[in-house]
Amino acid sequence: MQHVTLNNGVKMPVLGFGVYQIPAEQTERAVTEALAAGYRLLDTAAAYGNEEAVGRAVKNSGIPRQELFVTTKLWVQDAPAQDNTRRAFETSLTRLGLDHVDLYLMHQPYGDVYGQWRAMEAVNREGLAQAIGVANFYPDRLLDLILNNEITPAVNQIETHPFFQRTADQDLMREHGVQHQAWGGFAEGKNDLFTHPVLAGIGEAQGKSVAQVVLRWLIQRDIVTIPKSVNPDRMAQNIDVFDFELDNEQMAAVAALDTGTTLFFDHHDPEMVAWLSKRRLEN
Ligand code: NAP
Repeated sequence: MQHVTLNNGVKMPVLGFGVYQIPAEQTERAVTEALAAGYRLLDTAAAYGNEEAVGRAVKNSGIPRQELFVTTKLWVQDAPAQDNTRRAFETSLTRLGLDHVDLYLMHQPYGDVYGQWRAMEAVNREGLAQAIGVANFYPDRLLDLILNNEITPAVNQIETHPFFQRTADQDLMREHGVQHQAWGGFAEGKNDLFTHPVLAGIGEAQGKSVAQVVLRWLIQRDIVTIPKSVNPDRMAQNIDVFDFELDNEQMAAVAALDTGTTLFFDHHDPEMVAWLSKRRLEN
């Protein structure tokens, strides 16, 4: 497995396993199978409701903790944000059954972002989160956070796939030493991604699947990726992307698929801002 080095020296695998939308009762099995397939980066969130199941799979795997890279995420907190963030972080750690996480992300750029970030800086300084970062931050909000706080986020996890490539976002992140991580690398199959003729053509030429072409394209753009699958054959396929390379022409053909817009929702849309800001987790 290849690694990237984050802006604080922490090493992170370039490819991991995401567990969004895996029901809690299926997550332990899925993570156990992913670990057996060789995944070492696990990406969960308080909002996914499956941290406990991830923790059980980690514990039962017997894999030494230092070989694993576990990410979880903070949901939007009520005031006082610093106290509530601390509490939410400790709840996540307890659910995971871990004494630290490798990466703690602010899941949404809403609420008292500064209060939340200060509490995250504290858990980072205490070594309880080896690195801290954000998700779903567009360049304006990311730069504001960077310029007005002590710790620069190590990672920004954003929607990134062949139809929404985020090149300007990546330029800004590069400039400030923030690692670009893709969520929805397959666009969750939207736009018929898995049968797209351009991607399928590259796959045919390489003797690889469309999924492998997409993951390879992300990795060659220096983007950390976390494909989700509950299917062991696909888990194995998705991690088997280190024995081939897309050439310049193939990279350019994928680059031409960019539409520059989200396939999910716009974080600037007032209705989404209201919905995500008001959503609260049960505990
Ligand atoms: P994704 O990885 O783009 O797509 C997952 C879909 O692709 C599933 O339907 C899966 O089906 C299918 N699939 C996986 N491998 C395949 C293959 N080799 N061939 C054909 N189909 C395949 O979607 P995602 O889960 O939304 O994103 C990945 C991870 O990013 C999440 O799990 C989560 O950890 C993270 N995420 C973060 C945020 C955020 O706001 N920070 C938002 C969304 C996601 P099967 O399971 O049936 O194989």
